[in-house]
Amino acid sequence: MTSLLTITDVRRSFGDVTALDGVSLDIREGEFFALLGPSGCGKTTLLRILAGFESPDAGTVTLGADDLTAIPAHRRPVNLMFQSYALFPHLSVEKNVAYGLEREKLGRAEIRERVGEVLDRVGLAGAAKRRPHQLSGGQRQRVALARAIVKRPRLLLLDEPLSALDRKVRAEMQLWLKQLQHEVGITFVVVTHDQEEAMSMADRIAVLNHGRVEQVDTPVALYGAPRTHFVADFIGGNNFFAGTAVPGGLLDGTVLPGLPSVPDTIAEGDAAVLAVRPEQIRIGTGLDDAVLRGTVLDVSFYGGTSRFAVRVADRATPIQVQRQGAPGFVPDQEVDLSWSEAEAVLIQPAASG
Ligand code: ATP
Repeated sequence: MTSLLTITDVRRSFGDVTALDGVSLDIREGEFFALLGPSGCGKTTLLRILAGFESPDAGTVTLGADDLTAIPAHRRPVNLMFQSYALFPHLSVEKNVAYGLEREKLGRAEIRERVGEVLDRVGLAGAAKRRPHQLSGGQRQRVALARAIVKRPRLLLLDEPLSALDRKVRAEMQLWLKQLQHEVGITFVVVTHDQEEAMSMADRIAVLNHGRVEQVDTPVALYGAPRTHFVADFIGGNNFFAGTAVPGGLLDGTVLPGLPSVPDTIAEGDAAVLAVRPEQIRIGTGLDDAVLRGTVLDVSFYGGTSRFAVRVADRATPIQVQRQGAPGFVPDQEVDLSWSEAEAVLIQPAASG
């Protein structure tokens, strides 16, 4: 895939606050790309810069061969879908969708055809005459999307597009949005603070923290091979053990097994952190390959899975463990914990990572 959007060393401050501290990203044509990070990490500022509502203090943004920084918002082949949807309450669904095309002074027949086609695509052909207040939250969201894609932008920016929806509708819309993006082939850049949402929809994700890019990768790579402490913690849960890198794992009193996923950044003898996901730890009694031994503090049952907090001597933080099915262990029970080398990753400590 060829690159569509190139963001190079973009910086933006507001007074003393550095919102973007040198962000560089390459977003490919036709890609579903997510900007993910906690509140205040700079996601919205970056999206507003891409849309042209905000200017960077330094750095460049190019779309194809064009330097976007010199092009005003309304002339960019870019559309931004706001969190609030911003539909016109007094206009019908079809008039809301037609609005942008009318402003571009397209012919009536073409507008009718394009609006009809898009409403079909978002499954709202039967609701064309309704007003926004006669629609559900999910339907209003579809109108906002229809209005954004009807203009056939090269790039569609979506700011927390599903945050106003309740949990169940949200899960349906995640699937739907991903399918829609593949069908229309427009490059989507979605801002979200919800890691599950980003993981379920995006082809690739940029994880932002304090105005910097921590890692850009596919959801599977971010989960399986996080490169920084922040990413290992923010994407899914993790148990962290600090110590010294040794062949095959980490020395932390005893040697804990774990293969470094980033051998080029960590040398033997370096301070390192071992990250082991709760579902990668086996819990049992009398395990031959026990790595740690502890006492069950807490058990929670979630239907499909069970989670445990296990206290291990000399460790301040209990170890989190997850397994499929019913718990099978009770609080105060002595248990063994184990994991294999291939299931844990070594990362740099937070201060240098
Ligand atoms: P959220 O998920 O809460 O919207 P975000 O990751 O989108 O957060 P931004 O809105 O980009 O973060 O904000 C990044 C930082 O810049 C924050 O500390 C914010 O307070 C600050 N900031 C953003 N816009 C302005 C502004 N117009 N004036 C002053 N500070 C701003």
